[in-house]
Amino acid sequence: MMTVLTSRQILDRLIGFPTVSRDSNLDLVDWLEDYLSGHGVRCGRHWNEDRRKAALIAHAGPWTGGAVVLSGHSDVVPVDGQAWTSDPWTLTERDGRLYGRGTCDMKGFVALAVWAVVEAQRRGVARPVQLALSHDEEVGCTGALPMIQTLRRTFPAGKIALIGEPSRMKVITGHKGGAGFLVHVKGYEVHSSLLPEGVSAIMEGARLIGWLNDRNAAIQAAPRLPVGARFHPPFTTLHVGRIEGGTAHNITAAECRFAVEIRCVPDDDLEGHARAFRDEALRLDAALKARRPAEGVDLERFFDVPALRPEGDGAAEALACALTGENGTGVVAYGTEAGQFQDAGYSAVVCGPGDIAQAHQADEYLEIAEFQAGQRFMERLLERLG
Ligand SMILES: [Zn+2]
Repeated sequence: MMTVLTSRQILDRLIGFPTVSRDSNLDLVDWLEDYLSGHGVRCGRHWNEDRRKAALIAHAGPWTGGAVVLSGHSDVVPVDGQAWTSDPWTLTERDGRLYGRGTCDMKGFVALAVWAVVEAQRRGVARPVQLALSHDEEVGCTGALPMIQTLRRTFPAGKIALIGEPSRMKVITGHKGGAGFLVHVKGYEVHSSLLPEGVSAIMEGARLIGWLNDRNAAIQAAPRLPVGARFHPPFTTLHVGRIEGGTAHNITAAECRFAVEIRCVPDDDLEGHARAFRDEALRLDAALKARRPAEGVDLERFFDVPALRPEGDGAAEALACALTGENGTGVVAYGTEAGQFQDAGYSAVVCGPGDIAQAHQADEYLEIAEFQAGQRFMERLLERLG
């Protein structure tokens, strides 16, 4: 029989796998699957396209519907260029804190969830619990949707999804949604003294960026939406965070590339904004192609994170409030995989140990008190599962 590990021992192992999003997560998944199946927990995988990564799903308890799904991501952000006091890939305790990359975001919660799933299996709970561990969360939540589909195909359908992103164990019922476009404007190079004969991809791209600025101004001048008003800032925003193009001040740029991000409050129309931007890009594309067929605008939608809509008396909210003893709920500014679970038919909230302020930082840490609060949360969950 395989040894039963404490949540702290599990965290120790998880931090030792450097599962940066750009790299494979298979060492972690292999270890975890061995550990879970060694305790009789049924496991499954959803492989990504090149099979360098897999999402891990697991089911403990009776083979019936209505499971509580504990959801986390296996990937972490890089440590490149960050000054760490101790090795980021070794769990290190100092001053009441657990240091290591991913302790807060979000291997602390994953360790607690793994502990709870094994414990549920050992105790023979009356109601099932499932684990859903994704990859590529940190690069746009692209791993969650296929994982959720596989989860629903493989195991009896769950009902409630608890997404353990750091919330200081507060019950979070809403977050903004997002979508991203990579924009590639193709122009025509001439010496800038002959400007009218060339096409500057930068100056043409600036028209689209100007459109985004105008859209922001219009949104901010419009009346606030009721759910959106709970957020800070209380409206949808459109943003360009990166731009490149051009070779010299006196050559019209052949290329301009930039990334557009739309962050949308749950009761605003994300697809409406996305469509309006695409239409604007298509208008510019047609205008450029009318001059030279090789010019134009290419768009690629590179991420989609659906918003989490406050359910109002949802089953996930009721459960998480009962487990934490909280009676208030809140919304957060960051995106998670909770909206994808909600779109798939689950009642979903975010609730996990640690403070989002520590995520992605050098010397990322999780307070031991937070980890212990998470442990109590899991123990109460097990009591409820019967
Ligand atoms: Zn996270």
